[in-house]
Amino acid sequence: MIPEEIKNILACPLCKGDLIGTESSFICLKCKLLYPIKEEIPIFLIEEAQKLSDEDIQKIKDPNYER
Ligand SMILES: [Zn+2]
Repeated sequence: MIPEEIKNILACPLCKGDLIGTESSFICLKCKLLYPIKEEIPIFLIEEAQKLSDEDIQKIKDPNYER
């Protein structure tokens, strides 16, 4: 579990924009990338990031999305 204070200061390594923190990942909506959290350590490597589809982005923007 990543503390809220830490989540708030993290930024996307590509665009330096805000990230959305979930239980298992950090998401940049601008870059449409998902950075996984492995063993409580967020992996901010472009090579490790997963590309998100427009469908995924819509789901994440949904206020009912499970964070
Ligand atoms: Zn970004």
